[in-house]
Amino acid sequence: MHFRIQIVAVSEEGTEHCQEIADLVRSKASLETLGLTLNESKQILHDLQQSIVLHQVNAFLTEQRSCPHCQKPRLIKDNGIAVLRTLFGEMTLPNPRWCHCSCSRQERRTLRPLSSLLPERTSPELLFMESKWASLISYGLTIKLLQDFLPIDHKHSAPTVRNHLFRLAERHEAAMDEEKVFFMEGCQAERDCLPIPDGPLSVGLDGGIVRARRGATGEKTANLFEVIAGKSILSFRRDDPEEVPPSSKCFALVQIVDKKPKRRLFDLLLSQGMQANQQVTFFSDGGDNVRRLPEFLNPDSEHILDWFHITMRLTVLGQCARGLQQPAAADAANEEASLERCLESVKHSLWHGNSGLARDRLGDVEATLEMWDFDEDGIHTPRKDSESASRMLKYVRELDIYIRNNTGYIVNYGERYRCGERISTGFVESTINQVVSKRMVKKQQMQWTPKGAHLLLQVRTQVINGDWAETFRGWYPGFQPGNAVISASELLAA
Ligand SMILES: [Zn+2]
Repeated sequence: MHFRIQIVAVSEEGTEHCQEIADLVRSKASLETLGLTLNESKQILHDLQQSIVLHQVNAFLTEQRSCPHCQKPRLIKDNGIAVLRTLFGEMTLPNPRWCHCSCSRQERRTLRPLSSLLPERTSPELLFMESKWASLISYGLTIKLLQDFLPIDHKHSAPTVRNHLFRLAERHEAAMDEEKVFFMEGCQAERDCLPIPDGPLSVGLDGGIVRARRGATGEKTANLFEVIAGKSILSFRRDDPEEVPPSSKCFALVQIVDKKPKRRLFDLLLSQGMQANQQVTFFSDGGDNVRRLPEFLNPDSEHILDWFHITMRLTVLGQCARGLQQPAAADAANEEASLERCLESVKHSLWHGNSGLARDRLGDVEATLEMWDFDEDGIHTPRKDSESASRMLKYVRELDIYIRNNTGYIVNYGERYRCGERISTGFVESTINQVVSKRMVKKQQMQWTPKGAHLLLQVRTQVINGDWAETFRGWYPGFQPGNAVISASELLAA
């Protein structure tokens, strides 16, 4: 049996043009030869696309042919061809050069009419699918994945995908408003006139380290650079208080290349409907860069050291302490001074916002550890644990500096907790892990330039936030993305 697939193009005037797309031959039916194969479907899709696109372009060229001033047809200078990359393959199109009509003065003697129809040579739908997937998985896998199911040509490579994504991200970056130090405008009286805002916003900010490509940071030694990522959670909306889960959005930036970090965070909060009279709590990981970012963004904001980051450090210390062979607790006093008991007390003090007492108790831990390298007579005798002890000592001193630097941001977590207020944004999974690590750190052989990482993160956060299609519609008003079957969050959880 033959199956001929034909396309009939019907013009505006009603003339029909018939073209054969495929001729499939099938002999006896069997389970595996019923219907179309994937390869046939790819070829048919490609040829169908080529035929439709060609008809559309030819109709456009016919319509444009006459001079807009005197209506005489313009002379053909030469007949070139152009290539358009689409989701259904590479299309070859006529790209003629016409002479301008002599009836009016023109700056140039010739024109290529296709340039006005196709200012870019990749279809928005292909750009959208490429960039969406490449923000979630590697550039190389993205193109292989698309080629698996779609008739995308084999010259289309991972670097092409990367360059497209960078160009899109740069386009979005260029449209951002200017950076400011101070984003709080208006006075209290003006703020009092605003409508009642939505629920409080909780913004978790986190720093992480990404491995740079050699020489990419411009220094010979340091080949690491810092990424800041954040997540903003709106506790409830007044018009939809039952919304589950609460609306959250993330953002990320590479500080050494980002010229507008505060604007970026501010815009994110605005996109969640932030008002100047809305309560905003910033939770930071305690790093200096991270802590400074949200300053002067909202008049009704508080800044808190994220409890999650405190507990992470204490957990590491607890593991160190358990790993050490401690001198037998001969008496009650000794038991009292055991490292684990001291650490419990540090945690207890911090939980109640008492950073002074926490540092005192850390001092006790430090003193205990320092004694470990000396016997009762004060003679230095390295014990078999001394290496682990000195490592723990290092962590203890780091934690002490950490608490000292963040004293102003350590609050009474216990009280907040009892009142049902948030004490952290990162208990389930830290933002840096979700936004950055899964794409950039886990595969250690991947090495990034700070600029490349920054641009990728801009697309990635928009895809995760579900804003990427809207950004595309801003650029290409007629763009209609297909229904996304796999969501970014499903893929991240995989
Ligand atoms: Zn003319």
